[in-house]
Amino acid sequence: MGASIESLQERVRGEVVEPGSPRYDEARTVYNAMHDRRPRAVVQCADAADVIATVQTAHDEGLDLAVRGGGHSVPGFGTVDDGLVVDLSGMRNVQVDPAKGVARAGGGAVWGDFDHATNAFGLSTTGGVISTTGVGGLTLGGGIGYLARKYGLSCDNLIAADVVTADGRLLRASEDENDDLFWALRGGGGNFGVVTSLEFRLHPVGNIVGGPIFFELDAAADVMDFYRQYIAQAPEELGAFFMFQIAPPLPFIPEERHGDTLCGVVTCWSGPESDAAAVLKPLRDAGPVVAEHVGPMPYPALNSAFDALLPPGLQHYWKADFVKELTDDAITAHVEHGSQVPVVNSTVHLYPIDGAVQRVRPDETAFAYRDVSFACVIAGMWPDPADNAANTEWVRDYWSAIHPYSGTDGGYVNFMGDDDQDRVEANYGGNYERLSKVKATYDPDNLFHLNQNIQPAR
Ligand code: FAD
Repeated sequence: MGASIESLQERVRGEVVEPGSPRYDEARTVYNAMHDRRPRAVVQCADAADVIATVQTAHDEGLDLAVRGGGHSVPGFGTVDDGLVVDLSGMRNVQVDPAKGVARAGGGAVWGDFDHATNAFGLSTTGGVISTTGVGGLTLGGGIGYLARKYGLSCDNLIAADVVTADGRLLRASEDENDDLFWALRGGGGNFGVVTSLEFRLHPVGNIVGGPIFFELDAAADVMDFYRQYIAQAPEELGAFFMFQIAPPLPFIPEERHGDTLCGVVTCWSGPESDAAAVLKPLRDAGPVVAEHVGPMPYPALNSAFDALLPPGLQHYWKADFVKELTDDAITAHVEHGSQVPVVNSTVHLYPIDGAVQRVRPDETAFAYRDVSFACVIAGMWPDPADNAANTEWVRDYWSAIHPYSGTDGGYVNFMGDDDQDRVEANYGGNYERLSKVKATYDPDNLFHLNQNIQPAR
C-alpha cells in the first residue's frame, strides 16, 4: 500500500498543517502576496525523514508537490492549490567548521542564518543581498551576490548537497558521488529533488566597507556609462551593482529628497579597509552624489541593510535578462524606463557577471551564462493589489525596451516570473539537453515540476 496523506502526521516529527487548522493561513502564506493558494497540506518538516515521507506521499497519491525554503520565489513555486508543500523552514540550522573553512546549512536556512553563523568566525561565502532569501532556492539557481566577482556564484562554492529524490531516496551529491546530480544542482534549480542540506566553502570575509551611493537621476546615463567600464576593471574584491531606486525615507538622505527617483550603486569592498577610499573614489566622482552611506561594517549588516524595504506581503512581478554588453542604446532605454520606477519598493538592478564567475566554464555547472557582462532584473514590488495592472505594465514595458539590446535570449532563472516558462531552454543555453537527461535519471515523472521546469528527456 502506498503512503497516504491520512497517515502522514503519524510518520513525521514536524507538523502537517491542513485546512481547518488555526495555523493553516499562516502556514500557506508565501512572500509574494500575489499567490494566495490553498494546499491540501503544508508539511513543516523537522528533518530529512519527514521530507522523505512527504515526497513518498505526494508520489503515491499523485499530488502536486511544492518545495519551500525561504519562500521568496516570485512565481510562487513554494505553494500550490490542492497539493502538498514541503516546508523546510524548520530546518535552518547552520554548522560551521572554521578549521576546514566549510559550513553546512539546512535546506530551509535563509542567508541571515548563514551569515550570522559564519561571521562569528570572520568567514563568508557568496549569498543574496537580502537576509530573508533562502540559501537553498538561491544557490540551486546559481546565486548572485556581492562576493561573486572574487569568489564565484553561491553554487560555485557548493561542495556537496544531500538530496531527497522523487523515489524517496536520500542521496549525497558532490564531485565524488552522483556527480551528474551535483552538476545539475548548481544552477538547475529545484528540478531534481528536495535538498535537505548544503555544504559550502567559506572565505576570509568578516568586515567589509560598503553601502549605497545615490546619484542625481539626470546623471543616470553618465553613471551607467561610467559603471560599465569601471566595474569591468575594478579589483575583484569590489562587488557593486547599479540600480534605479526611489529615495527611501532614511536619515542619511536629505529629507527634502525622500521620494525622489535616483540612480545609484551599492558597493561592497572586501579587500583591506585602508584601500577602500581609493577604490571607491572614481565611483563617487561618476556623477553628482545626492547621498551615500558607505562605511565599514560586518558583512551580514550589508546583507540585511535593505530588508526593511522588502517586507513579506508585497506584490511581486519581475522580468530579467543576461546582458552580453551594456550598449549605449540599452542605456538610453534604461534611463527612459528606470526613471519611471513607480514605487519605493521596486527597483532595477544590474549585477556584474565577471571575475571568478567567468573562470568557471559555461558547461562546468548547470549555470550556463558565464560569458556575459551583467544579469539584469526589473523587480516590480508594491504593497497594494489595486496597483497590480500598472506595476506589471511598467515591468513589461521596461523589459520589452531593453531586451532587444541584451545580446542573449536567456535570463537568470531565479529572477524569472511565472509567465517565463517558455524561456527555460534559453535560460540554460547549451546546458539544457544535459539537464534534461539528468532530470530523466532522477525525476523521470517530473514530480518536481513547480519550478522553472526542465522536462525529463524521453
Ligand atoms: P522558495 O520560494 O522557498 O523556493 C523557490 C524554489 O526553489 C522552490 O520552489 C524550489 O523549486 C527551490 N528550492 C528552494 N529550496 C529548496 C531546497 N532546499 N531543495 C530543493 N529545492 C528548493 N537571487 C540572487 O541570486 N541574489 C540575490 O541577491 C537575490 N535577492 C533576492 C531578494 C528578494 C527580495 C527576492 C524575492 C529574491 C531574490 N533573489 C536573489 C532571487 C532568489 O534567488 C529566488 O527567489 C529563489 O528562488 C529564492 O529561494 P527561496 O528558498 O527563498 O524561495
